[in-house]
Amino acid sequence: MDLGLKGKKAIVCAASKGLGKACALSLAREGVELVITARTASELEATAAEIRAETGVKVTAVPGDITTEEGRAATLAAMPNPDILVNNAGGPPRGDFRDWNRDDWIKAVDANMLTPIFLIKSVVDGMIDRKFGRIVNITSASVKSPIPELGMSNGARAGLTGFVAGLARQVAKHNVVINNILPGPFLTDRLRGGFQEAARTSNRPVDELVLERAKNSPTGRVGYPAEFGDACAFLCSANIGFIVGHNLILDGGNFNSSIA
Ligand code: NAP
Repeated sequence: MDLGLKGKKAIVCAASKGLGKACALSLAREGVELVITARTASELEATAAEIRAETGVKVTAVPGDITTEEGRAATLAAMPNPDILVNNAGGPPRGDFRDWNRDDWIKAVDANMLTPIFLIKSVVDGMIDRKFGRIVNITSASVKSPIPELGMSNGARAGLTGFVAGLARQVAKHNVVINNILPGPFLTDRLRGGFQEAARTSNRPVDELVLERAKNSPTGRVGYPAEFGDACAFLCSANIGFIVGHNLILDGGNFNSSIA
């Protein structure tokens, strides 16, 4: 299936590894020129080199914190008029809401709600003028099915989801479509991080514990980043202008509902 994306330009945020990297790679395989971001310059440059080597597309690495104004400005300076924007950033920490102060909440809202909103604000009018735009926000299955210890994630991402639901309907007539992808458990460093302590105390490999936890899910496994990346590329493709404001939950069927 030709996604019709050859020659398009995309910003993929937080993309040196994990889900962001998978989205960048899937888009690059479709011939999309990339700007990718992450805070750790060495890892980001290594990822850019890897994607260039595999796909031959132009990949510009912009190191920086995408949750800051400077980080966003540097990213947009490298690609002021993207056709595609994939919003992503690190997720807030787990914990008990009694331990979180105002600064903790502001950080979570900045990363997982306001950063995507300000990036969308910077690029959406250009997309409208050019009559093509695809925006995918990486949120979390926790938006649909809250994870109690991830309260800041549940809250901040739900805020983004509500905002996007309205905006998506304002811009769709210009062939600018905005959708969210809600990851369940995907085998990335973020997921592995939650199992480090159990691995240490049980003296077992992290990946073994992750897979054990997943075996009772409908697919009996966790998701692989490449599956996520391809779903993202599909939601950026040329012929999906009628898919507007969706929340695509990618969790291997974990969310138990007749209508997902
Ligand atoms: P990951 O494997 O830890 O990768 C995170 C990527 O984001 C890295 O490239 C990291 O690089 C970059 N990053 C983090 N904070 C950043 C910032 N402030 N500015 C720029 N880049 C930043 O995480 P992941 O599993 O791909 O998760 C991606 C998002 O999906 C997160 O918000 C996560 O909470 C959410 N999610 C993941 C899962 C899952 O199972 N994997 C499930 C639900 C939701 P640097 O650290 O060098 O900046």
